Amino acid sequence: MIRFCKKCLQPDTRPNIEFDQNGICPPCNYSEVVKNINWNERRILLEDIVEFAKKNNHSGYDCIIGVSGGKDSTRQAIFVKEVLKLNPLLVSLNYPPEQMTNRGAYNISNLINLGFDTITIGPSPLLWKKLMREGFIKYGNWARSTELSLFSSVPRLAVAYQIPLILWGENPALTLGELGSRSDTYEGGQMKHGYTLSGGKYDWLLIDGIQPNEILQYRYPSDEEMEMAGLRIIYLGYFMNHWTKQDNGLFAALRGLQVRSNHPSEIGDIIGVDSLDEDWVVLNQMIKYYKFGFGKVTEIVSEEMRYRDMPRAKAIELVKQYDGNCSDTNIESFCDFIEISKEYFWEVVDGFVNKDLFEKVNGKWKSKFKIQ
Ligand SMILES: [Zn+2]
Repeated sequence: MIRFCKKCLQPDTRPNIEFDQNGICPPCNYSEVVKNINWNERRILLEDIVEFAKKNNHSGYDCIIGVSGGKDSTRQAIFVKEVLKLNPLLVSLNYPPEQMTNRGAYNISNLINLGFDTITIGPSPLLWKKLMREGFIKYGNWARSTELSLFSSVPRLAVAYQIPLILWGENPALTLGELGSRSDTYEGGQMKHGYTLSGGKYDWLLIDGIQPNEILQYRYPSDEEMEMAGLRIIYLGYFMNHWTKQDNGLFAALRGLQVRSNHPSEIGDIIGVDSLDEDWVVLNQMIKYYKFGFGKVTEIVSEEMRYRDMPRAKAIELVKQYDGNCSDTNIESFCDFIEISKEYFWEVVDGFVNKDLFEKVNGKWKSKFKIQ
């Protein structure tokens, strides 16, 4: 049966997580480390990386930052420009119009307007949609292909533009406990071995006669290409204190970020500052909840327990009430986009529900486990 971390509400059903012998999850242990970090020492390490970028700048840009216009990218981009005094190129991925929200468009414009050069990459919307559908049906995760694109298109551009340094925000091994990411520091070079990018395999994308060169933006550059480019990949979150959803959300809101204002019961989220550029992420969190027994609310309250002493009873209450919630309108717009019926949508989702954790009562999935 599902076990929860003794300090937060992280369950041991998260893929690639291991609790320690005291039943504590890795992000909780890391939060203790964070309290005693000598930030000046880390800053000296970071200055070495800044030096590296300046020395190897052949194109005019010191580094490249993959951005969505959300809270993390806003904080990162401003830090890089104003504090590190680097000249970054921002790269953002274009969504099909049905997927992009007005809020997302507003936020990316807001970030650009703060004074950055930006390149927008737009993979073919037709393929995008086809692959999204395939990911949903085959893996119960429509974002499987789009995440490949997000994490592959940035290094691809860095190689092409000869930009020596890629800066990502958080290291999922530290903040979420996903060991698949294989790095417990700031080095992101092993990123492609992470959960979504496992082995960089893309064979499943080659459906309906799609050729490898049609999905270039979904394919991570080869090791040879990366080596030739002398590219370094760094998680900036490692060097920044107060790197939490709440802190980054507040920072970015003060610089113009628009956040979600929906009721938690519509979006399965109690602070509304994550993944603001599109709304189907909510539906994916719902499916994740049925697969593993946790969604966005569990992640949020767990961070609040680690860094802001949210009482366990309150956290449990919020998770019980809102985790995995998703409005019908959201599901309908997704079904319209990938051209399936709502009945088929639920047929697919039902196939991915973990039946050890959930049972169907009056046509709805109810959890069988007790959060404690
Ligand atoms: Zn924990």
